[in-house]
Amino acid sequence: MTFSFKLLTQDKNSHARAGIIHTPHGDVPTPVFAPVGTQATVKTLTPNDLQELGATLILSNTYHLYLRPGADLIAEFGGLHHFMQWPGPILTDSGGFQVFSLEGLRKIDEDGVTFRSHIDGSEHRFTPEKVIAIQEKLGADIIMAFDECPPPHDYNYNVEALRRTHRWAERSKAAQTRSDQALYGIVQGGIFADLRAQSAEFLTSLDLPGYCIGGLSVGETKAQMHEMLEVLHPILPHHKPRYLMGVGSPEDLFECVARGVDQFDCVLPTRIARNGAVFTKQGRVNLRNARFAADKNPIELDCQCYTCRTFSLAYLRHLLIAEEILALRLTTLHNLHFMLDTMRRIRQSIFDGAFTNYKNDFLAAYRTVSSRQ
Ligand SMILES: [Zn+2]
Repeated sequence: MTFSFKLLTQDKNSHARAGIIHTPHGDVPTPVFAPVGTQATVKTLTPNDLQELGATLILSNTYHLYLRPGADLIAEFGGLHHFMQWPGPILTDSGGFQVFSLEGLRKIDEDGVTFRSHIDGSEHRFTPEKVIAIQEKLGADIIMAFDECPPPHDYNYNVEALRRTHRWAERSKAAQTRSDQALYGIVQGGIFADLRAQSAEFLTSLDLPGYCIGGLSVGETKAQMHEMLEVLHPILPHHKPRYLMGVGSPEDLFECVARGVDQFDCVLPTRIARNGAVFTKQGRVNLRNARFAADKNPIELDCQCYTCRTFSLAYLRHLLIAEEILALRLTTLHNLHFMLDTMRRIRQSIFDGAFTNYKNDFLAAYRTVSSRQ
């Protein structure tokens, strides 16, 4: 089975869409939230846990795996699916976001980027061809063109970076030798509607199997992010998946699905879980809070996750305070269940013509965190 995307239905009152992505390692119903497995592991969980949670797609990071343990080693094991023993669909990013986050440790030119490893300071170089070669060794089902992720507010710099990202997208496409991996192009352009439109038009002309929306959730406001999605909606081809990279929070899922996004990934649910913060339908809660010290209830009474079916708030708080490893695993299980289950409900509501009602009800009950995480 090669890669394909089928749009199954579209909501009448918003741009919400439901569809299905077919990949060589299985189907991904959309909209979808992909847990992040930076180092070829979703921290604290086994592949079996992920399957029980109903995860259908996971993300791993090209930059991190290239540095450690190395793409050649992973290729020797038959690729990432075999190395980490996750049989389902995998997506790898381009490494662009990580490399461009290495302030002071990198140098950009027309051909590529020279950077220093955050692990040992050794010098490395990424070009579009190199990044595709690495991702071919890793063997994910969905791979990314190499892109530059510029600061979102500097117009002139974004103009220059966008031209480079487009030339790199053409080179990434030309460098591809495997036919079983779907190459997505990455729309950039900061917070500027004209640049975003230009980027979407250019990448659409390359006729790629899917499109990422990159460079958002990096310091702009939510209103700016929503505006960019609205600019892109009519330009990106309707019969291809749209993937909003690095987003989001529970409220982002609703707001961005409503603006036509099909795919998400974010470290937020797993990262905050390891700090003892969990999602509930009323908002985010910190389990270290003293008010849970003797609480016999689960995190959420109606949650079907293993943690909530089994353990009290008092026990979870105790594990966190005592710095027990199990705490991190149990909170991670709950938060990923929350995200995946919410996305399954969103998808069903789109089929039922009830998405807007579900969105309004969810957002009315959910207290959002004002500071960015
Ligand atoms: Zn739960």
